[in-house]
Amino acid sequence: MDQLLDAPGSLPDLRGLHSEPGPRRWERVLAPKGRTAFELDKGHTLRIIDLDGQQVADFICFDRHNLVDKISPSTTVMVKGNIHLTTGDYIRSVDAYPMLKITQDTVGRHDILAGSCCPGLNRLRYGKKASHQPNCRENLAAVMEPYGVRLSEIPYTFNIFMNVPISPEGNIEVIAPVSKPGDFIDLRAEMDLIVAISNCPQERNICNGFTATRLGLVVFNTQASS
Ligand SMILES: [Zn+2]
Repeated sequence: MDQLLDAPGSLPDLRGLHSEPGPRRWERVLAPKGRTAFELDKGHTLRIIDLDGQQVADFICFDRHNLVDKISPSTTVMVKGNIHLTTGDYIRSVDAYPMLKITQDTVGRHDILAGSCCPGLNRLRYGKKASHQPNCRENLAAVMEPYGVRLSEIPYTFNIFMNVPISPEGNIEVIAPVSKPGDFIDLRAEMDLIVAISNCPQERNICNGFTATRLGLVVFNTQASS
């Protein structure tokens, strides 16, 4: 388990606020600026909780039995025919297979176009010295390295809770997330997966409200309902 996974304190008990889709397998708190990768079995559901509000989770996944097939934001958008993903929508792979289904979503505003903070964007935006400040792309590469996935093989991300509105003219802008403490998204695995999450460390712009905070992770066994 990655050393940046566990934050002090435990997951708040949110059971009274929202129904749970099945028995809990495990739960953890992902530290501010933390990162992790883990296996998620077909039929299990990952709940990602914005514990403190306005925190983005940069999310990728791979077919555990065929790592060449991995999340494809462009295929996901092409099949849905829309850029806004929420309850009932599928995250698809390069080969257009459904990898995950969004089964609950208390926010309804996420981003699948803007990619991750990375050395190149940090250099362009904030200068050369900022290139290798903590960033999602290198976080995801670090946690996928033990699985034999290289930096160049890290796909573009689904940015959970990230708020990037698009104007009628096609302009995009990163603005503050609308997620509040306790908001969450449920992702049910449609195949055996390796999932990687970077708890976005960016504090130089408003994408995390200028402050990196915690995420909660819970995995439920929902095989009976899938
Ligand atoms: Zn980031």
